[in-house]
Amino acid sequence: MRNSKSYALQLDARDPLHHYKKEFYFPPKTIYMDGNSLGLLSKRAEKSLLETVKSYKLFGIDGWLKGDNPYFYLAEKLGEMTAPLLGALPEEVIVANSTTVNLHQLLATFFKPKGKRTKILADEFAFPSDIYAIKSQLFFHGLHPDKHLVLVKSRDGKIIYEDDIISSMTDEIGVIILPTVIYRNGQVLDVNLLTQEAHKRGIIIGFDACHSIGVIPHNFHKQGVDFAFYCNYKYMNGGPGAPAGLFVHKKHFGKVPALAGWFSSAKDTQFDMSHEFKPAKNAGAYQIGTPHILSMAPLLGALELINEAGIDRIREKSLDLTGYMIKLIDSELAGMGFSIASPRSSKARGGHVALQHKEAARICKALKEKGIVPDFRPPDIVRLAPVPLYRSFSDVFEVVQSIKKIMMNKDFLKFKNEREVVA
Ligand SMILES: *Cc1c(COP(=O)(O)O)cnc(C)c1O
Repeated sequence: MRNSKSYALQLDARDPLHHYKKEFYFPPKTIYMDGNSLGLLSKRAEKSLLETVKSYKLFGIDGWLKGDNPYFYLAEKLGEMTAPLLGALPEEVIVANSTTVNLHQLLATFFKPKGKRTKILADEFAFPSDIYAIKSQLFFHGLHPDKHLVLVKSRDGKIIYEDDIISSMTDEIGVIILPTVIYRNGQVLDVNLLTQEAHKRGIIIGFDACHSIGVIPHNFHKQGVDFAFYCNYKYMNGGPGAPAGLFVHKKHFGKVPALAGWFSSAKDTQFDMSHEFKPAKNAGAYQIGTPHILSMAPLLGALELINEAGIDRIREKSLDLTGYMIKLIDSELAGMGFSIASPRSSKARGGHVALQHKEAARICKALKEKGIVPDFRPPDIVRLAPVPLYRSFSDVFEVVQSIKKIMMNKDFLKFKNEREVVA
């Protein structure tokens, strides 16, 4: 009964967020399961983009102070709108730069190797761009990553254990950079525990929230997290190239950002055009140059939608969707060579499910041919993200049925088991 379409439809009928699906555009004839790589466009995000374009048409340079959303305050306004998603104070969040640039900015500011404390701690599953940024920051200080980048290993090749992270927090670590949710396996790390343990040892800790923002609630201010950075084009649905965001805890306000520019300035004195730099006394100080207004504009609508749906309800539905998906995979795909690389407990499960199979690359291609959009992460992971705002229980049902068909008919064999240029 649980493995039937009618059961899925019953779950949809009971879902309080089901109607939000109508607010999104979908690539024709697809079940899009890749919202953790690039979220889809909502009608509200399209509207706020077009309104901003209209403001540009109408006001030209005066758009910086005129119109419904003056450009000069847009980064701050979006920061304020994002704060509830991070459990932050409004002035602790700013939308600016790209995710990777924000990591550079934050490390340049917070990583001050001194005496024995010359190392950065991260994990072996970290997103490559984060690792490149960390390594280049180490090189910048004349420190070689072979010696000064400590990567926590996974004991079993699947999960990163908090205990292992904590036992790597030595007095040689200056800064810790960890994901809130690991992008490959969808594992949630215990931010509260890790922050307390880092602080007991005098270590600064920052989180990459790319795979949790918009799908999982956070509590960064109360937990005392030092800083965080995140992406706006995944679960936030801000569109390709949407500027990223960052959080800096209030206790660090007044620090001078290492990578300064005129938009790091206190807003009331920025246009004095003085060569004497006066940074903003909040997260705004971590901006650098002119904000990418047109790329930020869709976020106005996207954030309105997420805040209206409510992050707690989004998380609840997300867990229901991924839990349902895991149950279906266990029963429908048994004996077909799949294993679930994501944690099964709801506490440790993020917004997506990582399905492991040795033919993963070509299973993904076969799925795409059938109109299902997953993504592939080498060497053997199919990631499926049932985004709560626009995916339903019947979508999850259809996806698992399609995988089953592909395996039974061996449809994947006609593709090569290798990834595309963009996977
Ligand atoms: C998506 C993602 C990034 C992307 O960084 P950009 O600067 O936006 O390209 C970085 N880290 C993680 C963990 C991500 O998931």
